[in-house]
Amino acid sequence: MKKPTEKPQLPKTIAAAYGVACDSSFGAVSPPLYLSSTYEFSGYDQPRAFDYGRAGNPTRALAAEAIAALEGGAGAVMTSSGLAAIDLLVGRLPVGAKVVIQNDCYGGTLRLLKAREKLGYIQLIVVDFSDLNALEAAIKKGPSLLFIETPSNPLMRVFDIAVLSSLAKRYGAKTVVDNTFLSPALQQPLSLGADYVVHSTTKFLNGHSDVVAGALVALNDEDCQELNDWSNITGAISSPFDSWLTLRGIRTLFARMEQQEKNAMTIANHLNNHGSVSKVYYPGLTTHPNHELAKRQQQGFGAMLSFEHKDGETGVRKLVETVKTFTLAESLGGVESLIAHPATMTHADMGAEARKAAGISDGLLRLSVGLEHISDLIEGLDAGLS
Ligand SMILES: *Cc1c(COP(=O)(O)O)cnc(C)c1O
Repeated sequence: MKKPTEKPQLPKTIAAAYGVACDSSFGAVSPPLYLSSTYEFSGYDQPRAFDYGRAGNPTRALAAEAIAALEGGAGAVMTSSGLAAIDLLVGRLPVGAKVVIQNDCYGGTLRLLKAREKLGYIQLIVVDFSDLNALEAAIKKGPSLLFIETPSNPLMRVFDIAVLSSLAKRYGAKTVVDNTFLSPALQQPLSLGADYVVHSTTKFLNGHSDVVAGALVALNDEDCQELNDWSNITGAISSPFDSWLTLRGIRTLFARMEQQEKNAMTIANHLNNHGSVSKVYYPGLTTHPNHELAKRQQQGFGAMLSFEHKDGETGVRKLVETVKTFTLAESLGGVESLIAHPATMTHADMGAEARKAAGISDGLLRLSVGLEHISDLIEGLDAGLS
């Protein structure tokens, strides 16, 4: 393979064309999918760029480079899931290291970190990030890592990456941002002071609900090298086919995000004026408490939103059983619209008490807005809400 162009490129160009026409064998325009698990040495003691598929794979490397370029990082590691990417980072911390995380993050992230804590690997400090005093007190305890998810899941709270990461830096902690909800098309945490970005590429980056994979991007070369070594040591890698599909999905990232966001904004405004909805959580609404911050920190408001049904669980049940244009399913970020009930689905494992503390009620529904015609989406919701 020829090297992708060394010229600096604008993000939309990277997404659409990174690695295109780099095949020196046949001039393939779409980058080839290399499934081989092993690579011939060119001679005695002469390995080539790749020797074994766990240590490296050309297809995976290309997708990782594209994601790193979009995030403005030195490099990226691609893993078998978003949680594997988080575990890769946490697994490299010294035993007993403290990790600070918000109380309203993705349920699976909290479950993973709590499981690691229970086994004695880390000490977890869970705080409400909107309480800056509590957050500062936690960071003063000397954590190795501050974990930020913004916008948060499912309440779409937005946290100031620049403020939080500089606070972390002051006390010697590194910052990782889960950028799954916005993707690098709409938010670049490394440019705001974060040291790492983590993705469930299962979601917007791949965008077609046919891959489970993750990525971990590091700002500096040294971290990147260490994480790459760690992925080879632990075997936390993404398959060539998943990597290939993910890069293929990234081609349309900007166009998808733009249109899905438009649909989400229209739906948020519609629900905000709907008699059966008591509250809408979408940072694009001027009534959202973090609207100004979102406007400043993000290049868009994304395609995720949540709302409270006025009739609580009874209303929720009726809606999810009648709504046609939204599929009742976990996950998000695909071209098709999904509806999820956090209390019984994504956040069920958190337990009722923790959900209550995080403000996740039984009447809350989360939408991942897709590319369908907006009239069909609104009609479907209205039918379920009437
Ligand atoms: C889905 C998700 C994860 C976990 O990713 P997997 O690919 O399912 O392991 C982590 N963070 C956020 C915000 C997610 O939505």
